[in-house]
Amino acid sequence: MAWLNLAAVVDATEAEGPGTRTAIWVQGCLKRCPSCCNPDFLRVEPASLLEVEQLKKQIESNKNHFGIEGITLLGGEPVLQAPGLSELAKFAHSIGLSVMLFTGYKLEELNERQFSGIDKLLRYVDIVVDGEFELDSIERSRNWVGSENQKFHYLSERYDSAIEPIKEGVITEWRIDPYGVVSANGIPFVVKF
Ligand code: SF4
Repeated sequence: MAWLNLAAVVDATEAEGPGTRTAIWVQGCLKRCPSCCNPDFLRVEPASLLEVEQLKKQIESNKNHFGIEGITLLGGEPVLQAPGLSELAKFAHSIGLSVMLFTGYKLEELNERQFSGIDKLLRYVDIVVDGEFELDSIERSRNWVGSENQKFHYLSERYDSAIEPIKEGVITEWRIDPYGVVSANGIPFVVKF
């Protein structure tokens, strides 16, 4: 039974990749980039533990209810949880959804560092956006990317660079839950108030 340690999940968002997507922020990152936009997600400690099987059901439900076109994996650092996320990504592909991955590591590093489960995860990823977030080079012309150094890599035929240019402005989404908690996501953050 595989588990994931999650920081946040948004069932349907248009601010974290092409189309409407389920966005999944994992808890824990070993890097400490100056100006990290999600400092609460860095500690490698249990946050919200969820069985992969449970998240699969949630994603399938989101496909049926919201018509999502894919899932996006962010963090924290998703590659640290590659074994569990690879199962999730494989399932997403099996029901016709695309998979987008944001990582603070360069794609070349992922191959060199031999993160457990990374080969399997990348087999089911359509888009990788790689590189650390750099506050002094904020990206202003490409969708979803925090800083200019970060690059898109297309690992399947499903998407290409036509998705990158910002055409209708940067999307930031605000939500209020039934308990009155306000949250926001979009470039480059996810926050709760
Ligand atoms: S890799 Fe991403 S989550 Fe990790 S410290 Fe850097 S910006 Fe923050």
